[in-house]
Amino acid sequence: MALIDRHRAVLPNWIALYYADPIEIVHGHGRRVTDANGKSYLDFFAGILTNALGYDVAEVGDAVRKQLDTGIMHTSTLYLIRNQIELAERIAELSGIPDAKVFFTNSGTEANETALMLATQFRRSNQVLAMRNSYHGRAFGTVGITGNRGWSASSLSPVKVSYVHGGYRYRSPFSALSDVDYIRACVEDLREVIQTTTSGDVACMIVEPIQGVGGFTLPPDGLYGAFADVLAEHGILLISDEVQTGWGRTGEHFWGIQAHGVVPDLMTFAKGLGNGLAIGGVVARPDVMDCLTANSISTFGGNPLATVGARAVIDYVFDHDLQAGAAKLGARLITGLRAIAERYPVVGDVRGKGLMVGVELVEPGGRTPSVAAAARVLEETRARGLLVGKGGLHNNVIRLAPPMTVTEDEMDEALGALEGAIAAAQEGK
Ligand code: PMP
Repeated sequence: MALIDRHRAVLPNWIALYYADPIEIVHGHGRRVTDANGKSYLDFFAGILTNALGYDVAEVGDAVRKQLDTGIMHTSTLYLIRNQIELAERIAELSGIPDAKVFFTNSGTEANETALMLATQFRRSNQVLAMRNSYHGRAFGTVGITGNRGWSASSLSPVKVSYVHGGYRYRSPFSALSDVDYIRACVEDLREVIQTTTSGDVACMIVEPIQGVGGFTLPPDGLYGAFADVLAEHGILLISDEVQTGWGRTGEHFWGIQAHGVVPDLMTFAKGLGNGLAIGGVVARPDVMDCLTANSISTFGGNPLATVGARAVIDYVFDHDLQAGAAKLGARLITGLRAIAERYPVVGDVRGKGLMVGVELVEPGGRTPSVAAAARVLEETRARGLLVGKGGLHNNVIRLAPPMTVTEDEMDEALGALEGAIAAAQEGK
């Protein structure tokens, strides 16, 4: 039986596979992967922004192998774990949150569930503010704060959530406004949402500095700082979901939220930290982190294997100044794409920061989403040896997020493939 048929027989229908003829990736090195048929691709989606350094990175492999050689992959948090403590110290220091504490999980979902648990217990309130077009995970709490029908499998929720405007500017009712007026309109909306849909004592607001699943959408810099001023009037905590935007990927900052001039009360992270090892977590104000009065444990959280790998990833990011690389290569990507957009009106919007760039496909001449064009670009880039992501509220956005080690030559190669794919999508043949 073909692998695709075996997959369909035993795995759920709701795990989406890319491509009419899905790919099995069997080998990787640098930014390139090879499929089971021997075809090579430049990878500009990096395991959904998770292979932050790319494939076959010696420093990470060596750190993991050294831990394996001790015979210990897991002990549990019942015992002291040196790698966990060292990683927590590093993240606490990087967070900018005074005297921060860190809790490790195995995924972004679990990180956000933890942040919700902390904030709602700290504030003794089940009310949460989230952004329209958000994605924060797949469990009950996190689906409850996900503002995207395509990812909302259930309406059942342990939190009472109110959604606020601002994260998705291209399709916002305020999209025609200047940056300043846009921020003013969103702040007014936030005030009105608090007044009309809550009892005032809201626990927290959670934001993605750049909405990932939502199609790499972002507000003007400063919006979340302006929101924070309103939140402070009510004692509402701010959580920044850095699952996609952390570790320097946005180029100009180490954490995405720094573009907004505010230090949040909590940040959540996962994906890129482990370069493929399953690790996530929360970094938070100490009083918030310590507010739980019952035991809480994540059995695999903070395990010595994932935490030693993650330490090696963070060291690599700094040793190679990957944040500066993300800024430089990201600028090359966005400039190249904007030039392509001028030639092909099927491209409605090019946006993003650093190595997180979205290309929204539309019916030429307007803003009507073109799902067909995005599907075509996905297939055509694959045919040209380039892996990209697809998403957005209307499933019409191509998402580009290569490993942060990407080179100028690879960027130009990708831009060439993208131009060919976009041309094919525009011609519709
Ligand atoms: N938050 C954001 C911003 C994400 O993009 C994701 C995953 N796409 C999650 C949380 C959930 O992470 P995970 O899939 O590791 O549970």
